[in-house]
Amino acid sequence: MKKRNQTLAVMMVAIGGVLVLASCQDVKNDKKSEGTGSKHFMVTASIEPTLKPTVKPTAEPTVEPTVEPTTETTMEATKVPATTATPNTVKKQSQKTKRIVIDPGHQLKQDSAQEPIAPGASETKKRVTSGTEGRFTKVPEYKVTLEVSKQLKKELEKKGYEVILTREKHAVNISNIERAQVANKANADAFIRIHCNGVDNASVHGALTLCPTKNSPYCKAIAKDSYSLSKDILDEMTEATGAANRGVTRTDTMSGINWSKVPVTIVEMGYMTNKKEDENLVSPEYQAKIVKGIVAGVEKYFSNK
Ligand SMILES: [Zn+2]
Repeated sequence: MKKRNQTLAVMMVAIGGVLVLASCQDVKNDKKSEGTGSKHFMVTASIEPTLKPTVKPTAEPTVEPTVEPTTETTMEATKVPATTATPNTVKKQSQKTKRIVIDPGHQLKQDSAQEPIAPGASETKKRVTSGTEGRFTKVPEYKVTLEVSKQLKKELEKKGYEVILTREKHAVNISNIERAQVANKANADAFIRIHCNGVDNASVHGALTLCPTKNSPYCKAIAKDSYSLSKDILDEMTEATGAANRGVTRTDTMSGINWSKVPVTIVEMGYMTNKKEDENLVSPEYQAKIVKGIVAGVEKYFSNK
C-alpha cells in the first residue's frame, strides 16, 4: 500500500496541483455523504483513506473498547451477584452500609393545616397531630418518641447502620408528608416511625406495627418489604419487652406511609392510656428494651432480604 501510494503521489504531483486539489475535494465530499471513497477517483481515494482509516481504527479501538468493557464488567459484576441469591451475595449485602431514617412521631405543637393523605388523593389530614399523652404520667407522646428514637439511632450506629432522624428537638414543624420525603430523599433502606398509642379503654395494652395494604394504590411497590419490616420489628420488640403482640395492621390511611417510597413501618410501642404501659414507656430501662428489640428486628429484616 505505501509503495503504491508513494508512486501514486508522485504521479499526482506530475499531473499537476490543480487536478489533485480537485480530486481531494471530490473524495472529501464523497466521504461525507457515503462514508466510503469513490471508485471513480481511485487515485486520490487511495491517498485519503490511508490517512484517515489508519488513524481512526488504531485510535478508536484502543480508547473505546478498553474503556467500555472494563466499566461494563465492573458495573455488572457488582449488580449481578447482588440480585442472585448465593452465599457470597448474602455476605456482600450485609456488609453494605444500610441507611435508616427514624421518625420520632409528633412534635411540640400540632399543625392543623391540611395536607393530602396520599399523592393525588383528595382526602386530607392534619399536617401533624398532637399525639397522645400519658394518662397517669402526663408525659406527652412526642417526648417518649424522641427519647426512644435517639437511643435507637445510637444503637443502630453501633451496629454499622447510617441513621438519620427527621427531628432532633420538639419545637419543629415537619408534616407527615415532609417526614416521608426525608426518607425518600435519603433513599433509605428502611423508614421507621416511632409512636405510642392511646384509647379510651384503659385496659387495652400491647404493641403493634402498621404497614400499607398489599394492594395499596400508593405503596404497592413497598408493601411486601414494609410488611416484613413491620413483622420482624414487632416480633423482636415484644420478645425483648414482654409486651403483648397485637400484630401487624395493614392500612392505607396514614399520610406518612402513603407518601413513602421506601419500606416503611409505624411502631406503636404501647398504650399510654394503660397504667402499666404508660409507666413502662417513660422508663429508661423499658425504653432500652424497646430499642434492643427494634434493633434485633432490623437485623432480622435485613438478614432475610
Ligand atoms: Zn402517635
